[in-house]
Amino acid sequence: MKITVDENAGFCYGVQRAVDTAFEAATLPGDVWCLGKLIHNDDCMRRLSEKGICVAKSPGEIPDGAYVIIRAHGEPQNTYEVLQDKGCTVIDSTCRFVEKIHKIAKNKSDEGCIIIIIGDRDHPEVRGILGHCRIGYTVADDTDVTSLFDTIPADSPVCVVSQTTAGRKNAENIAAKLKNHYTNCEIFDTICNATSRRQSSAAELAAQCDGMIVIGGKDSSNTRRLYDVCRELCENTVMVENAEELDADRFSGCKHIGITAGASTPAWIIKEVHSKL
Ligand code: SF4
Repeated sequence: MKITVDENAGFCYGVQRAVDTAFEAATLPGDVWCLGKLIHNDDCMRRLSEKGICVAKSPGEIPDGAYVIIRAHGEPQNTYEVLQDKGCTVIDSTCRFVEKIHKIAKNKSDEGCIIIIIGDRDHPEVRGILGHCRIGYTVADDTDVTSLFDTIPADSPVCVVSQTTAGRKNAENIAAKLKNHYTNCEIFDTICNATSRRQSSAAELAAQCDGMIVIGGKDSSNTRRLYDVCRELCENTVMVENAEELDADRFSGCKHIGITAGASTPAWIIKEVHSKL
């Protein structure tokens, strides 16, 4: 049996930076809080909690004057204002690729554009981007596009961005429809390369394998998408959060097993899954 770990599996640039920043911040004197779960990985969150980092669901839960880590997904503009009013020190780990979208959203809003975000409206990154728009809408599929056409007149100035982890095929399809309909439409390709690189290299690996394991948190959208990509090419694909969840017997008859992992999966978990196999 051959086992291949995809070279692009695991932490991306933005998540690695946020995790490193958090472990460093844990050594600061005083309260250190993270606004939302830093990453979709319980093992990593447990280690951070053991170092004394608390997690808040909203800025209101954070005590005045605390250190606050903003995760890679970023936050709406008003979060910064609330934290400033509370006398907190912000440690900003917003990924630079997300920051770029915030800048586009803000600048284009200032120019009078309506911002259309291709992505999942419930995802924190999308909520963060919306919080940098004067007027912003989200679209995820063709139904949303149709209702958008009923809401925004065709001659309005619109600016289109994508959630960094949006699926490229779907995003390009939606962008083409928007471009076709709106006469004054500017489209920015803001899908992160780390995600597409991970997706295409996982697809390449899945096509060669008769068993495929995708490691990542169940509430991580990029892991879910990675699973869908692999499942299309290798029917025997499973998604697990860690080695404990893996039923290794399922792969006993396989000749070649591939392993990939979402952006929030630490290297130590990939190693544990590999060892268990
Ligand atoms: S997936 Fe890309 S945009 Fe998102 S945190 Fe990672 S590097 Fe940044």
